[in-house]
Amino acid sequence: MTKFLVDRMLGQTAKWLRLLGIDAKYAPEGDDERLLKLAEEEDRVILTRDKELGRKEDTVLVEKAPPETIIKEVLSRYEVDIDPLSRCSICNSQVKRIEKEDLEEKIPEGVYQRNEEFWHCSVCDQYYWRGSHWDDITENIEDILDDLDSYENKV
Ligand SMILES: [Zn+2]
Repeated sequence: MTKFLVDRMLGQTAKWLRLLGIDAKYAPEGDDERLLKLAEEEDRVILTRDKELGRKEDTVLVEKAPPETIIKEVLSRYEVDIDPLSRCSICNSQVKRIEKEDLEEKIPEGVYQRNEEFWHCSVCDQYYWRGSHWDDITENIEDILDDLDSYENKV
């Protein structure tokens, strides 16, 4: 399955990839050589806005476009495992399902009442649930997947 190293200018794209469960690590600060070396070591495809870097092997030059357009291109070109809500959108770590009763008072009361399923990132102590932001993303993603020929193979 393809993993990505994402340019810091593509923050929204990285976040969406992670929400889909796709491994999308932020590129480190530093020069292109360092970035290319890391991508090779960790076997990652680079997503970048940098025209020069974008010409290298295993690199996708991403034009200025809404995240859904970028995600669509990435999903049509690379084989990925889509596993929504398995990864932290902030730090890219795997999140774990946690029991609802362990959560009381850690999240807003209304959220607690409205949801049954929760996930936790132990690295940045972040809690996840299917909120309205999530609905927006899944709606967009469903449209994207419907457009892709290989939909059946990927979900
Ligand atoms: Zn995290």
